[in-house]
Amino acid sequence: MEIFIKLRGMRDILPEEVWKWQKVEKIFIEMCELFGYREIRVPILEYKNLFVRGIGSSTDIVMKEMYEFKDKKGREVALRPEGTASVVRAYIENQIYNREKISRFYYYGPMFRYDRPQKGRYREFYQFGVEVFGGKNSYFDGEVILLLNETLKKLEISGTTFLINSLGCKNCKVSYISELKNQLMKISDSLCSDCKIRIEKNPLRVFDCKNENCRLSLKNLPLIIDYLCEECRFHFKVLVDFLNRNNINYRITGSLVRGLDYYTKTVFEVISEKEDIAIAGGGRYDNLVNDMGGPDIPAVGFAVGIDRIIPLVKDDEKNEKVIYLILLGEKAKIKGIEIIKKFINKKINFETDYEDRKLSDYLRIASKKRRKWCIILGENEIDKGVIILKDMERGIQEEIKEEEIIEKIKEKLKC
Ligand code: AMP
Repeated sequence: MEIFIKLRGMRDILPEEVWKWQKVEKIFIEMCELFGYREIRVPILEYKNLFVRGIGSSTDIVMKEMYEFKDKKGREVALRPEGTASVVRAYIENQIYNREKISRFYYYGPMFRYDRPQKGRYREFYQFGVEVFGGKNSYFDGEVILLLNETLKKLEISGTTFLINSLGCKNCKVSYISELKNQLMKISDSLCSDCKIRIEKNPLRVFDCKNENCRLSLKNLPLIIDYLCEECRFHFKVLVDFLNRNNINYRITGSLVRGLDYYTKTVFEVISEKEDIAIAGGGRYDNLVNDMGGPDIPAVGFAVGIDRIIPLVKDDEKNEKVIYLILLGEKAKIKGIEIIKKFINKKINFETDYEDRKLSDYLRIASKKRRKWCIILGENEIDKGVIILKDMERGIQEEIKEEEIIEKIKEKLKC
């Protein structure tokens, strides 16, 4: 018989781990709402050209990593590799700029990139992201960084650093790139074949090259941060002052260019020192709305890789809050359902089993599931009008009058 397995680079997130995902999602949502961001949900499937135009035709994502295909009508479509292009499309298509001067959105969901899978890199992965439209001031850049920093604090994730840089605006970026091109031509013999192509197609991207030889050769190249025009320099200075005042752990990194074409001025990445991996990336994209057919509206945002956040979340959750009901015999099952209805009313989480097992089997199941509290109900207890509440960790149990169950459990569970 054919055995089905999942596609390479895709994952199942099982219940043992899913509580961590829910915790991270909940905290991100809470923090975004606190900062006045509202959720936007956009399709997972879009026209392929949206990403080609939005992300840039010479980026790795578009050239090598898109899940693209023709639908039944022959339309060229793609699974979204990131969220910004779709949010920008939705912002323009729904003319949200006509309704408000500043729009703050957050989104969450799966993204797809056909890259080589490895630790922390999947073909389906989850991003939580925010986008702010309508503000050019550096304080908006500061706000999204602060929001991310506060969220990481709330998740008790430490050892993170914000790498920041400025890519300048249309004006200074162009003059820098022509200078960079000149310099790259001079050292092109020492560069890998990919970088040789980048010189022509997208010179900034050479800084993303992982090849050791290239990295050495690139060391003495000019950096964009030294080529910024006055306005961009001021924008960056205000942001750096903001980060200093708010105790955000950052490092100015002149070689940080990010893998997407749309960035202008601020770019940043958050790295986890412990895992030596990027957990988030973002920046400003002042021309994208306009380039995609909308009005001239500046924007800034970030995306966090939730798959990379999960291993950094402490593994301290116990299943204390779920009561395991052991119902011994038919009468206990009938009574048990009555108790369950009371639990539902009082929002007490519970779990039970109706398979007529032995008490010892039930206890083994409960301890395997790391349930701290068990209720045991058999004929004896029903006749006496009590239930047994067992503390599985301490191995002690007590009889409780039926009418006092809810109160007692609420006290034990502190809920
Ligand atoms: P990007 O959209 O490339 O700026 O990435 C933003 C963040 O998404 C990164 O810092 C990662 O945390 C995460 N990310 C990007 N690609 C992947 C992937 N293939 N697998 C898991 N996480 C990813």
